[in-house]
Amino acid sequence: MTNRTPCDASPKIDVSRFIEAGDTCSGEVPIAQLERLLDRLPETVEPAEVGALAWQVKGVRDAMGRPALEIVVEGVFPLVCQRCLRPLKWPVAQRTVVLVARTPEALVALDDEVEQEVILGSKAQEVLALVEDELLLSLPFAPKHETGCEVGA
Ligand SMILES: [Zn+2]
Repeated sequence: MTNRTPCDASPKIDVSRFIEAGDTCSGEVPIAQLERLLDRLPETVEPAEVGALAWQVKGVRDAMGRPALEIVVEGVFPLVCQRCLRPLKWPVAQRTVVLVARTPEALVALDDEVEQEVILGSKAQEVLALVEDELLLSLPFAPKHETGCEVGA
C-alpha cells in the first residue's frame, strides 16, 4: 500500500502518515492566492500580476530520529524598500525543518526542549498553510535594496 499524496487536487495531508511514508508534495502557488501575505505587497502591485512561488513539503526525520517536515519555498516576492519606498524584488530561498508532535502535550514538551519550530501533526493539514507560515516568517520586516537605492528600484 502506498500513501502517495495527491497534492495537486487537494493539498491536505495526514502528517504522521506522510512522514512515515517519507512522502513529498510539491507545486507552485500564485502569490495572489496567499491571503495572509497580500498586505505585504506594495500598493502599486496588482496581486494578479505577481508571480508564483515554488514550494515543496517532505516527510523527514531530524538527526535524532524525530518526525519532521522539511518545507522549502523559493521564488521572488515583491516588497517595498523601507529606505527609498520603491519596489524591491525580494529573493525567497527558505528551507525549514519543523518538528511534528503527535499530541498537544508532546507539543508543549518539545517546544520547551528545542529551538526549532514545532507543529501539532494534524490528520488533515493544509500543506499550503505550512508554506504560507514559513514565508511569513522568512520575509523581512524592513527590507532594503542591497546594492543601494539609487541604482535599485
Ligand atoms: Zn531602496
